[in-house]
Amino acid sequence: MVDCLDFYNKTGKYGDGNFFKTRIEKPAPLKLIPRHFSQYGLPEEILLKRFLLLEEKPDLIGITSGMTHWYPGVFKLVEITRNIFKEVPVILGGIYATLCYDHAQKHSGADVVFKGGNEREVLKLISNLTHTEFRNPNSAFCNISYPAFDLYPQLDYVSIATSRGCPFRCTYCASHLLTDGFYRRDPVSVADEIEYWTAQFHVNNIAFYDDALLIEPETHFIPMMKEVIKRGVECNFHTPNALHIRAIDETVADLLFRCGFRTIRLGFETSVEKNQIETGGKVTNKELQRAIRYLKRAGYPGEEIGIYIMAGLPGQRVGEAEESIAFVREAGAKPILVEYSPIPHTPLFEEAKKFSPFDLEKEPLFHNNTIFPCQWDGFTLSDFRRLKEKVRKEIVG
Ligand code: SF4
Repeated sequence: MVDCLDFYNKTGKYGDGNFFKTRIEKPAPLKLIPRHFSQYGLPEEILLKRFLLLEEKPDLIGITSGMTHWYPGVFKLVEITRNIFKEVPVILGGIYATLCYDHAQKHSGADVVFKGGNEREVLKLISNLTHTEFRNPNSAFCNISYPAFDLYPQLDYVSIATSRGCPFRCTYCASHLLTDGFYRRDPVSVADEIEYWTAQFHVNNIAFYDDALLIEPETHFIPMMKEVIKRGVECNFHTPNALHIRAIDETVADLLFRCGFRTIRLGFETSVEKNQIETGGKVTNKELQRAIRYLKRAGYPGEEIGIYIMAGLPGQRVGEAEESIAFVREAGAKPILVEYSPIPHTPLFEEAKKFSPFDLEKEPLFHNNTIFPCQWDGFTLSDFRRLKEKVRKEIVG
């Protein structure tokens, strides 16, 4: 197992840090963008050394992929593994492979591009390619074994998914495209996993990677975290993926604080009510104010409650982002401005294509949020930079 996004410099408080970064030549479609272009991830020489250490040739190589616009690094990895392990089959899966399936099939160089997240289908595919029989070929997300984090040379943190998918359908989000349906694990089995990593591997930072950790908390999050408390687990928890604001009541806020959730991020996106409704109705302004009140009462200072606000939605004016920032600040939390990244096959992608000066359909590099893909006169890249700087400087009271 090689994690190409392993950090080289773990200077963060919670086992986090900086990725390796290598400045490389800009791909042709981005030639006119006045920014440097870098490849994030293990440098090639480190990767090659790792491969050379292998005692046996692999039966199969599985490569995952993240954001759609990160595909050049993925292609490079396919090429490197191809060159070293000549006839070993390469499967490419993950987010890019699912959302840009045709692009990946045409250009990636992988033998098989796997779309979606169905474990049974993956096992079938691996079984066919390697002529291996699996003991439990019908494993589904809810009862698969834990990820093989024990293969890391040093384990500073782990990520856990207690659920897959999300019952909402926000127009900018790909959750339902990546997982067909909404599945949750048994809360006690999640507590088992948390206890396993903390007790056996002394991990003291766990990040939840659920899209919908807090949905119906009385049957999932509350029993799960009560079980964690009962077992005396001591660990810092993090929620880099936004939490559902509507689900935060007094009990949930208290549990978050008591259990040691350090990084609280809430998905708000905008304070303009019409746009909240039109993009999926996951939250209202009143619900945000209420959630912040409960979190503060539980013990969180406003500066630690990060509220995501989306900037650069198709047709959005800079005034909307400014209004949302002021609203969040007024409610006593910390606004975090994030650039909208157009995601293929989402309803908002069609709008984005109309608005964007870039060819989003043809070239995934243009989905890169740092180029501010839906910039226009009403919300320019320099408007965004000015706002971001302003938000960074202001301290929440
Ligand atoms: S609530 Fe969050 S995860 Fe669910 S669809 Fe909306 S943005 Fe995606």
